[in-house]
Amino acid sequence: MKVFSTSAEIYTHVLRERLEGKRVGLVPTMGALHEGHVSLVRQAKSVCDRAVATIFVNPTQFGPKEDLSKYPRTLNEDLEKLDQAGCDYVFTPAELQMYGEGHSTYVEPPQVASRWEGEIRPGHFRGVCTIVLKLFQMIPADIAYLGRKDYQQLAVIRAMVRDLNIPVCIEACETIREPDGLAMSSRNRYLSHEQRHRALGLIRALRIAERLVERGERDVQAVESAMRQELLAAPVDSIDYAAIVDPVTLEPIAEIESSVVAIIAARLGSTRLIDNATIIARR
Ligand code: AMP
Repeated sequence: MKVFSTSAEIYTHVLRERLEGKRVGLVPTMGALHEGHVSLVRQAKSVCDRAVATIFVNPTQFGPKEDLSKYPRTLNEDLEKLDQAGCDYVFTPAELQMYGEGHSTYVEPPQVASRWEGEIRPGHFRGVCTIVLKLFQMIPADIAYLGRKDYQQLAVIRAMVRDLNIPVCIEACETIREPDGLAMSSRNRYLSHEQRHRALGLIRALRIAERLVERGERDVQAVESAMRQELLAAPVDSIDYAAIVDPVTLEPIAEIESSVVAIIAARLGSTRLIDNATIIARR
């Protein structure tokens, strides 16, 4: 596994592989890697000739009061995990490499970024779109592997790729969970033992939503209120949202007709967790 820290080096290497006819898969991450990230690398390796991972804690996607400075940084362990997963190249740029002096160009996020995370974290998707577009330029991959865990981020990046004609395919990968159902997240390590226990309210609320729809419930408000009840019973400390939305636009829907997504963001102490589930309503 080769590790690069400049865009010129990674670009040259990846371009050469592409010109030789190799298929290249890209896995962008912020590090503090867990089995969810590793699964993306494995999927990239199972389809592509080369897997490239990036590790960069992107400052422009954090708000002024968010956890940028305490975001976990575990580079040595990350490199070990990537190597074991069969990753070929890792790009670990310094901040100045990504945002050089005078950097002042940003991507205006698509419509699908406006609600939910976009509303609660102003500027977040502007930072995400900007860094992801920059990574796509520096690493001309065939396929980018993204997790469904960050469902809105996935929808935002899909829309950006479509709208800006970026020549990369987006592959959505399943959420990897702990045995008890908690979605793996770099932020889980902030949870105390008892917060970790209460965090299971998120997966329980998603399962309740699934079960209700499976049993024929089509009223959005009924499902949303059952999700909230489950979260409050956990109890989580606060709920940012617990909603049933359209899987493509992420707009609220009036009635459950076919496929919907249940999305949740909730806080435990100062830790904010998100999770989601795609639910198919059978006729
Ligand atoms: P992050 O490092 O948190 O920015 O995430 C990097 C990539 O890993 C994103 O595409 C995430 O959606 C994905 N990811 C994070 N957690 C998981 C998980 N539990 N299962 C699958 N993919 C994940």
